[in-house]
Amino acid sequence: MEPDGTGFLAETAQLVSAVGRAMGATLRNFVRRPVTVRYPTIKRVYPDRFRGILALTYDSETGEENCIGCRLCEYICPPQVIKVEMLKAEKRNFAKTFTLELYACEFCELCVQVCPTDAIIMMKSFDLATADRRELLLDKDRLHALGLQFPPSWATGNRLRDMQAPPKPAKAAAKGEAKESAE
Ligand code: SF4
Ligand code: SF4
Repeated sequence: MEPDGTGFLAETAQLVSAVGRAMGATLRNFVRRPVTVRYPTIKRVYPDRFRGILALTYDSETGEENCIGCRLCEYICPPQVIKVEMLKAEKRNFAKTFTLELYACEFCELCVQVCPTDAIIMMKSFDLATADRRELLLDKDRLHALGLQFPPSWATGNRLRDMQAPPKPAKAAAKGEAKESAE
């Protein structure tokens, strides 16, 4: 069968166009600024909701530990890496012991979301790399020290619950009125 001249030309045009597009992409990326940075000399600015290392907090006014040992974080944690023992006291309770196996943490943030006293939070850092897994078994003292060492993420249990709460009655009424007048 004789070769079809029209088909050959069409295929050649397609090939040239594809090579042209590929070369264009190569050239664009060749002159583009790199997206990588020289970590750790240069560090990126992390987003406010960054889910990094977990830590425990102190009350900034009284200096007391915020954790009341309620164990909600322990119950909610999917891989069950948190263990808390409650210490009952006269005015409030504390965590007698608090351990967190960071090497098995999923960074799901559920423990932060349920904490009633904003005692457990995530920090805007992941700088805890180590070759020794034992260093990632965090006890109460280490968790408190991490809370002072790194900048905290915006998210705390109370802030997150406020975001999910239904609109305040005044706001809801105003919205309802606006909807009625629009109809
Ligand atoms: S972030 Fe998730 S997996 Fe990690 S300790 Fe909290 S609840 Fe557990
Ligand atoms: S960190 Fe929060 S949720 Fe966990 S035991 Fe302490 S107070 Fe309860």
